[in-house]
Amino acid sequence: MDNTLLFKDLNLIPPLERALTKQGYTIPTPIQSKSIPDLLLGKDLIGIAQTGTGKTAAFVLPILQRMTEKYPRIIKTLVLAPTRELAAQIGESFSAYGEFLKFKHTVIFGGVSQGKQVHALARGVDILVATPGRLLDLMNQRKLSLNNIEFFVLDEADRMLDMGFINDIKKIITRLPQKRQTLFFSATMSREINNLAKTLLKNPIHVEVAPQATTVESVKQYLFFIDQPSKEDLLLELLRQKHLTRVLIFTRTKHRANKLALFLSKNNIFSDAIHGNKSQNARNQAIKNFKNGRIKVLVATDIAARGIDIDNISHVINFELPNEPESYIHRIGRTARAGADGTAFSFCAADERNYLRDIEKLIRQKIEVMDHTFHSETAKNAVGAAAKPPPKKQVGRNSRFKHKSNPISKNKRSFSKHAKFGSRFKHSHRRR
Ligand code: AMP
Repeated sequence: MDNTLLFKDLNLIPPLERALTKQGYTIPTPIQSKSIPDLLLGKDLIGIAQTGTGKTAAFVLPILQRMTEKYPRIIKTLVLAPTRELAAQIGESFSAYGEFLKFKHTVIFGGVSQGKQVHALARGVDILVATPGRLLDLMNQRKLSLNNIEFFVLDEADRMLDMGFINDIKKIITRLPQKRQTLFFSATMSREINNLAKTLLKNPIHVEVAPQATTVESVKQYLFFIDQPSKEDLLLELLRQKHLTRVLIFTRTKHRANKLALFLSKNNIFSDAIHGNKSQNARNQAIKNFKNGRIKVLVATDIAARGIDIDNISHVINFELPNEPESYIHRIGRTARAGADGTAFSFCAADERNYLRDIEKLIRQKIEVMDHTFHSETAKNAVGAAAKPPPKKQVGRNSRFKHKSNPISKNKRSFSKHAKFGSRFKHSHRRR
C-alpha cells in the first residue's frame, strides 16, 4: 500500500488546494508534511531547513489558512527575511498560494526609496514581508503598527545573525504582541540561534529536514584543479557545451563577478552579474532575464545569491571556492532543487587548496576530480603556504602571464569517453 501523504490529506481549505493544483504540487515536501498539521493547530515552530526544501510554502499555507477570512487591512502577519531577494520571493509565494483568497500583502526592503512602500502600507495590507532595517525605519517614522500581529515568521535566522541584524530584530520583537503564533527557521543551529529562538517561541514543535549531507548528495559534484590564469579559458570550454543550459557562477568578490560577466559577454555568452553594489532594479532585471532564459549565465556573490529562488539551474560553477565551507553547500544547493538533476563544478587553484580541504571535511566526502585540458598538478599538490590565499598585495601577481595549455594533456581529450562532458572532460582516477 502506498502511504505517500498528499496535500489533500492535510485538510487545507479549498482556495489553498486550488492554488496548489495550479502550481502543480500534489505531494508535500518533508518539511511541509511535518509542520503544516501542527501549524494549523496554532503551535509555534522551530524549523531547521535550508532554502530549496519547500519551507516557504510550509509557513505560507498554514498562515493563510489561519488568518480568518476577514479583510480589515491591518497587518496580522509579519515575515522577516534577511535579504531583499528572499523577501521578494516570499511575497511571490503569498501571491501564488493566496491567489484565491483576498488578502493583500506588501514587501518592504532597503536600498530603494521608501515612497512606494509607504504608499502601499497606507492603503492597508494584511501581510507584511520585510527586511529588518527598512521595517525598523518605517516603524520609527510611525508609518506602520505591529500591534495586531497574530503570526510572526523569522526566516533564515542564522543568516540574519551573520548579517548583523540581531539588534534590529530584538527591537522589532519588543513591539510585537505577546499573544501570537511564531515560526522560526534557520538552516543551521548554534547556541546563539537557540538563545534567540528561546526568547521568541512558546513550547515550539521542532522540525528538522534535509541534513546538509543529504542535500549535497543529490548534486553531482566535480572538481577541476587549475591555475588561476587558466580559469577563464576552462570556463569558456565548459560553457560552450550545450547541456549547460542555465548556469549560476559564484565568485568570492563583487569585483570578480563584474569582471567575469563582462568577459563572458565579450565572448558571446549572454550573462550578467548580481552583487551588493548593484541597484535593486538592476538585480531584479538580471534575475528576471536569467529566469526567462534571455541570459544563460548569472555570476553572483554568496550574499547576493542567497535565497534567490530559480528553478532548473542545470549547473553551479564555483569559479572561486568559498572561504567559508558552509557556503559551498548553500551554493551547490541552488541546483538539483525539488527533485531535479543538478551538477556542480568547482575550480580549485593552488591557493584555494585549503578551502577545498575544509569543504571536503564538512561534506565528509572527496569530490570527484575531472581530467581536463588545463589540469594543474601544482594546484592538486599544493600544501603549506602555497595552499593558502596569498597576502593581499600579491593577489594577481601572475595574472599578466597567459597560461599555455600543456600539449600532452590536450592529447588526452580524444581518449575521453565521458559523454556528459563531451570529448574534453573525463573523470580522473588518479590517487589524491
Ligand atoms: P523554498 O525552500 O521555499 O525556497 O522552495 C523551493 C522550491 O520548491 C520553490 O520553487 C517552490 O515553489 C517549490 N516547492 C515548494 N513546495 C513544493 C512541493 N510540495 N512540490 C514541488 N515543489 C515545491
